[in-house]
Amino acid sequence: MYRKNDLEMRVLVLAPTGRDAVLLQQTFSAANLQSQICEHIPALLEELSTGAATALIAQEALSPESVSGLGNWLTSQPTWSDIPFIVLTSKGRSNRTTFHKARELQALGNVTFLERPFRPETIEAGVRAALRARMRQYEIRRRQETLTRANLDLEQFAYTASHDLQEPIRNMAIYSTLISREYADRLDEQGLTYLQFVSEGAHRMESLVAGLLEYTKAATIVDELPEPVNAGKQLRLALLNLAEVIRENEADVVYCPLPDVRVRELHLQQLFQNLIGNAIKYRSAEKPHISITAEREGTRWRLGVHDNGIGIQAEYTTRIFGLFKRLHGHDEYSGTGIGLAICQRIVDRYMGRIWVESVPGKGSSFFLTLPA
Ligand code: ADP
Repeated sequence: MYRKNDLEMRVLVLAPTGRDAVLLQQTFSAANLQSQICEHIPALLEELSTGAATALIAQEALSPESVSGLGNWLTSQPTWSDIPFIVLTSKGRSNRTTFHKARELQALGNVTFLERPFRPETIEAGVRAALRARMRQYEIRRRQETLTRANLDLEQFAYTASHDLQEPIRNMAIYSTLISREYADRLDEQGLTYLQFVSEGAHRMESLVAGLLEYTKAATIVDELPEPVNAGKQLRLALLNLAEVIRENEADVVYCPLPDVRVRELHLQQLFQNLIGNAIKYRSAEKPHISITAEREGTRWRLGVHDNGIGIQAEYTTRIFGLFKRLHGHDEYSGTGIGLAICQRIVDRYMGRIWVESVPGKGSSFFLTLPA
């Protein structure tokens, strides 16, 4: 089990009146549990922020203000944390209001009620159960931290590898082109074929590495949502970049006025370019017809890119968003299998969703949700 430091193992006690605090401290010290008395709510909040395993609070210490202060603290805990609280209650009419207040806390956190008078064994058992629960939370935090570190390392590795591979691959591509241009007459047919394999391999690697680099860059995104940008404008920029393929395929691209979304301009362009590029690449025998739609969905916009292409079988509709996942060989369709993984990554960063609905042989609709 994980143990960051001793402060995080403490049992905090807030029992300002009577002999509760003294009795509890005696019980804990006999049970070999580390405890700390807090005089009032601000002191408790400060100690909680330093680190604690659980807290015992006497019901009468809970005024409306203190409940709201504690409530704020509880709701701003990190995702791994749900600190267990034990509220010591008492019977009696005069206690009804504070009991009511204590119940409010229950809605916000992990709260157990223990009625006074209690036996030392009861309180020790309650605190030990709370400690066990807290240890599990520390373990979850440790795993989260390990995963985050491993992810960062992988991210860095992929970035450095793809960045540093660019240059040698570019050289291979350039020199194989030079050889085929300037030494062609000195090579026999087999030699020329081998050279062509080298050249094709280098060009393929070039686009794979460029795609991978783009993929790793899609991760380094601001934490705050950017200012709204007009999706229509970014769509038109993406279409400009695709002008050549649109013309070659005589593709029709239609769209309604598109809304403003809180996504970086470059990311929006990448999304449109990848999705519309695919809609044309995976075309059927019919002339490509692509439409872009937008519908409001609560605090988000749902954008759709619809095509009349070859479509995708139901069992592959999730897999295609994975890195390097492709449904066809290079001889059928060129590509690296990175485009949709980039889209997935961009959309993830904005807490959105991306998915496809498709009828094989009829066409596909790619949908994504982005913050309004
Ligand atoms: P790439 O196009 O480079 O192979 P992507 O990540 O963009 O990589 O797409 C992954 C796979 O998803 C493609 O290889 C293709 O099989 C399938 N796909 C993507 N878009 C479409 C589409 N509009 N229609 C049919 N299949 C598609």
